[in-house]
Amino acid sequence: MVNPAAAARRALPSVDRLLGSEAVAVLIAAHGRTRVTAFLRRALDVERERLAAPDAGAFDQTRFLQSCAVTLERSAAPSLKPVFNLTGTVLHTNLGRAVMPESAAAAVMAAMTRPVNLEFDLATGARGERDSHVERWLAELTGGEKAVAVNNNAAAVYLALNTLALKHEVLVSRGELIEIGGAFRIPDIMSRAGVKLVEVGTTNRTHLKDFAEAITPRTAAIMKVHTSNYVVQGFTATVPESDLAKLAHEYNLPFIVDLGSGTLINLEEYGLPHERTPRETIADGADVVTFSGDKLLGGPQAGLLVGRKDLMVRIAKNPMKRALRLDKLTLTALDAVLRLYLHPERLHEELPALRLLTRSAGDIAAQATRVLPAVAAALGDDWKVEIAACKSQIGSGALPVDSLPSSGLAIMPAEKKGNLNKLAAALRALPAPVIGHINDGALMLDLRCLDHEDGFVAQLPQLKISKQ
Ligand SMILES: *Cc1c(COP(=O)(O)O)cnc(C)c1O
Repeated sequence: MVNPAAAARRALPSVDRLLGSEAVAVLIAAHGRTRVTAFLRRALDVERERLAAPDAGAFDQTRFLQSCAVTLERSAAPSLKPVFNLTGTVLHTNLGRAVMPESAAAAVMAAMTRPVNLEFDLATGARGERDSHVERWLAELTGGEKAVAVNNNAAAVYLALNTLALKHEVLVSRGELIEIGGAFRIPDIMSRAGVKLVEVGTTNRTHLKDFAEAITPRTAAIMKVHTSNYVVQGFTATVPESDLAKLAHEYNLPFIVDLGSGTLINLEEYGLPHERTPRETIADGADVVTFSGDKLLGGPQAGLLVGRKDLMVRIAKNPMKRALRLDKLTLTALDAVLRLYLHPERLHEELPALRLLTRSAGDIAAQATRVLPAVAAALGDDWKVEIAACKSQIGSGALPVDSLPSSGLAIMPAEKKGNLNKLAAALRALPAPVIGHINDGALMLDLRCLDHEDGFVAQLPQLKISKQ
């Protein structure tokens, strides 16, 4: 008796025979022999199992190799790639926050492919300090005596607390015990830094005398945290930084301020709402100020500490600094971005983060008019597209209640035919995924951050919206 399943399995070619075929030669050229061999072995195993089923049908080598080609191609594609951020949130943490200038990219390219004087003093030929490359700009731009740079602001806060207050108490207002997306909570960072948090005042009101009464011989610092992603409104009271600094200094304690976003310029001069700067904070008496490199500053992911020289020297000597330090690529990018700040009058053109934040609604609406026909053509008759006014967010917790008048495309199903989630998925499946947001029965594409307009339009014909 013939067992059809066994016969089908016997008909399966060996890996060696497949490797000799012309179709597989194409795969080897694209993906290499090692990867293709391992892949074919696994795929044949799967096929053998499939053929064991009673009505599995026959083995079709052409279709088998076609499906292998598709899977290999898909698995070799990078998963981290450029996208179009049309969410309306300019500094979108999940989309990599600040977009950086070409000058930074060019500098990083050189630093990647050639040796650099990362920790080498060219004047003396002796060992140098890696942070020195950005410290000179940070001191000039903030008024701090010395700077330290680490991997991100969470690391900066950790390092400051761990250096200055290990096994001691740090006073923080109850209204500032913040949580930032992605599990950054001030109380958790404090306990991991080996510091005891002493909560002062109440959620909505904290007074100077609350801090004064909480100081004990175990107190090692007073800390203020920027309430980045929320505002306490109504019956509120906070203590001005200058008063907290004075109190801290009366007791010989350092005053630490976590500024979060930390823009280096007066945003009002660019038509944006005011956000406190490290310079203002230091002028008000802060001894250590920490902030992010990739929020309003518009640079790479980094955490920056600026302030009093003696404290910065101690922070730089903390053994954990070594674990949290910046690499040469980030330092190179940061240096290139900070140098743009030396020409504040050109900054709104040269720093992408600021350029996008200061784009006028009229300019964005003109762009919406330009791209609308291509979007409508790609969508077809199941959808209608309109230009709509909208509001962009700055993002990354900066200025959470302020929004910027913007413009974009609102896409709606025509006669309730299209499914908005399917449309959003199809846009995400494009070679350079397009990320919008669904709001009020429409998929909204806020065009504030649409650079590379030609690339956006060029890939639209590949849009495939699934019907089921
Ligand atoms: C964003 C933020 C942080 C965390 O900064 P990262 O650079 O994301 O690590 C810490 N504190 C405040 C107040 C923030 O806004």
